[in-house]
Amino acid sequence: MKAEKPFNFDSTPGKLPKQVVPTEYSIRIIPNIDKLTFTGTETVKLNVRAPVRELVLNALEIEVGTADVDAKSLPKSSIKIDKKNELLRIALPSDLPPGEHTLTLNFSGKINQQGQGLFYARYQEQGTGANKIVLGTQFEATDARRLFPCWDEPSFRARFQLTAVVPENWLAVSNMPIESERKIDSPEANKEVRFAITPPMSSYLNVFVAGELDVIETKAAGTQIRVIATKGKAEWGRYALESTAKILEYYNDYFGETYPLPKLDQIALPGGFGGAMENWGGITYFESVLLFDPEKSSESTKQNVFEVIAHEVAHMWFGDLVTMAWWDNLWLNEGFASWMGTKCSAHFNPQWEVWLRRNFPRDPARRVGISKEQAMEGDARSTTHPVQQPIATEAEASSAFDDITYKKGQSFIRMLESFLTEKVFRDGIRKYIAAHKLSNSTTADLWNALSDASGKPIGEIAAGWTQQPGFPIVKVKRGEGGKISLSQERFTVNFKNPPPLEWKIPLTYFLAGEEPRSLLMTGKIDNLRDIPADRALKLNVNGAGYYRVDYDAASWKLLLESLARLGVDDRVDLLCEAWALVQANRASFSHYLELVEKLPASTELAEREQIINVFDFINRLLIDHPEREKFQIYARSTLRPTFDALGWEPKISESPKAANLRASLVAALGDLNDQEIIAGCRERFQKYLKEPGSLSPDLRPPVLAVVGRYADEATWNHLHELGLKTTSIEEKQNYYNALAAAIDPKLIRKTLPISLTDELPTSRAAFLVSRVARESRHPEMAWDFAKANMKALLAKSDALAANSYVPGLFTFFSDRGRIAELQSYAKAHLPPTSAKEVAKAVDEIEFRAEFRDRLCAQIAGDVLK
Ligand SMILES: [Zn+2]
Repeated sequence: MKAEKPFNFDSTPGKLPKQVVPTEYSIRIIPNIDKLTFTGTETVKLNVRAPVRELVLNALEIEVGTADVDAKSLPKSSIKIDKKNELLRIALPSDLPPGEHTLTLNFSGKINQQGQGLFYARYQEQGTGANKIVLGTQFEATDARRLFPCWDEPSFRARFQLTAVVPENWLAVSNMPIESERKIDSPEANKEVRFAITPPMSSYLNVFVAGELDVIETKAAGTQIRVIATKGKAEWGRYALESTAKILEYYNDYFGETYPLPKLDQIALPGGFGGAMENWGGITYFESVLLFDPEKSSESTKQNVFEVIAHEVAHMWFGDLVTMAWWDNLWLNEGFASWMGTKCSAHFNPQWEVWLRRNFPRDPARRVGISKEQAMEGDARSTTHPVQQPIATEAEASSAFDDITYKKGQSFIRMLESFLTEKVFRDGIRKYIAAHKLSNSTTADLWNALSDASGKPIGEIAAGWTQQPGFPIVKVKRGEGGKISLSQERFTVNFKNPPPLEWKIPLTYFLAGEEPRSLLMTGKIDNLRDIPADRALKLNVNGAGYYRVDYDAASWKLLLESLARLGVDDRVDLLCEAWALVQANRASFSHYLELVEKLPASTELAEREQIINVFDFINRLLIDHPEREKFQIYARSTLRPTFDALGWEPKISESPKAANLRASLVAALGDLNDQEIIAGCRERFQKYLKEPGSLSPDLRPPVLAVVGRYADEATWNHLHELGLKTTSIEEKQNYYNALAAAIDPKLIRKTLPISLTDELPTSRAAFLVSRVARESRHPEMAWDFAKANMKALLAKSDALAANSYVPGLFTFFSDRGRIAELQSYAKAHLPPTSAKEVAKAVDEIEFRAEFRDRLCAQIAGDVLK
């Protein structure tokens, strides 16, 4: 493995020549809302480091009208757009000598429907239901160039001063506070808003949002904090506002560096893009991941809001104040923010068990989350890649935002922290931030800071985890005289002849009831000594490590006998471990079930949810197979006692965990065809129609989903009307998710065309088809519909969807015949950049088909007692 180098501007990858560096932009944008276009001008101060005859910067789908250098206008013929490379080339009449120069450009472009560059979102206004429009931007990874020509690579830091012209009743928001406002006479709009200039930052972190917006605000540690939403909704930002204040102070302390901007805005957008984006000082969120209505929103929405804010605000330091040099280090940005956000969420909300939950998020649109298990599932396959991967093109930069980047990244960082201890790790992070603030960095810079803080060779340990794919399984074998031999090999699933790899593993372990210890396993084999033959030994303390463990029979037996003495995190880890061995065909399904049956009777949330997730996966896998009914009977009898202990009605003194678990169980038992639960859901839905307050917000999503799944036409129509009527994006999602769950083919044919209408925010509309593929038991109907309407569906999605949309739909198939169909479709219709996504989908279908056959044989046998 080639060791990575610390940050150096001149050797940072990228397309743009490094002789010319922008230092300050002054940009003025005039949107035309009626025509959905904009015009703009900008003046850029340049530092020319070596003589050049040409200026090369980025521009995409922009017309450049005029160009001046040092106030001298250039002929039109000297301006060339290189569309393929997304470059603007400006030929100069003579050498531009080193020193300060200025470039002034006039340009125009369009306001997009999808969340890229400057975009618009149409929505119904809260309270009035009036049709409105809001503008927003989404630039990461490489779309700032769609709004203004710029040096659009992260290492070209510069100061940005934005001015925008908007209608008088609109609020305009950007990274910095408004410096001045004035009335002007312009055909488009009549208010000119000038924002203060930013500190030096990367172009992709700019933001501009404008519309009829409401604001609530507070102050924390000297920083103005605001939540901004479309009119009538800002009060639902109260929880986000309070959470942001806490989170900001926590990070001020953790990073040892006070938040550097005068204000921090949290902006809820009712469409345009999904997820959230860490624009410095002006973070944008899809509305339902920021707003929380105490009357109507569920506990899991609340937790999601906190976790997403904690992730995004972590980026204000890790990503914005210090920015990765190039997109090959994106994992560091995202892995770190995911880890930091989770750590912060766990700190303020220990009762949520954030490290243990959400192993299999139900919402495919969710970008951040706790998901070591999800990362490991993907990372065990032949289609995985190292977290750190070479990035040459814009398309590669965009497709780097995957599970491996976010979730393996965060899991590795967590393992490292657990090995180094919290304090040593934090000291290293403080050194790193202090050394690189207002600049860029590479992974090597972080490892150096952590090595300084810990005295350990972090770069050497990290290389195996960040520069090679996959992860190890450690085999535990008890020998004579208290000796335990350990050996490592690569852990894979559905992967013939994997290249053998080795890792330096920061192992942690404990004897039941004793303090944890650690060992850096540096070779293929190692030993533990003096382990009493009658004591249970658990490796991977709290499941904080990113590796699997395979215990020999004697060690496994001792663990099963000691379950009641292990913490819930270690029991969840054993469940995940056992299930992974079953998936990898290293153990029979009975190995997992034996553990489930020996667990102490309890209503532990994370533990039960792990089981629910596994049962849910199998229940879907066995659709149309005779073993399904036998499995459902078994699964219901395993889960039902926990539900009966909790009951339908929330108790006044119960913890949020109980509310979450009840909701998960209702959804799971409903899917498993539990007739009493289905009847209970229908009854509660009827009551809810008359008296909405009768159904607690936590139970709404699962009750609606179960009612939707088994709906008849009248019920479907009813759910649809409710969805059309509400102006809350979260409620809308609940209703449309319920529609998408319907299993009656007649209703599926009614649900699918909704994706082509304007009923749902653009970014969510195309997802409705994926949702039907997953939930309806008829992925073939979703695929046939998508095939027939592909152009319209892709027009509603961002650029990335061209690669992943079709392969994504195929991952719901488990029938080998679909592989050839996907491959031939891809050959005829998909861009070459989709090859990786196609390979992943093929692998998933192969895996599902093989695993389903194996499980069916075991279930038909005697594995379910
Ligand atoms: Zn992020």
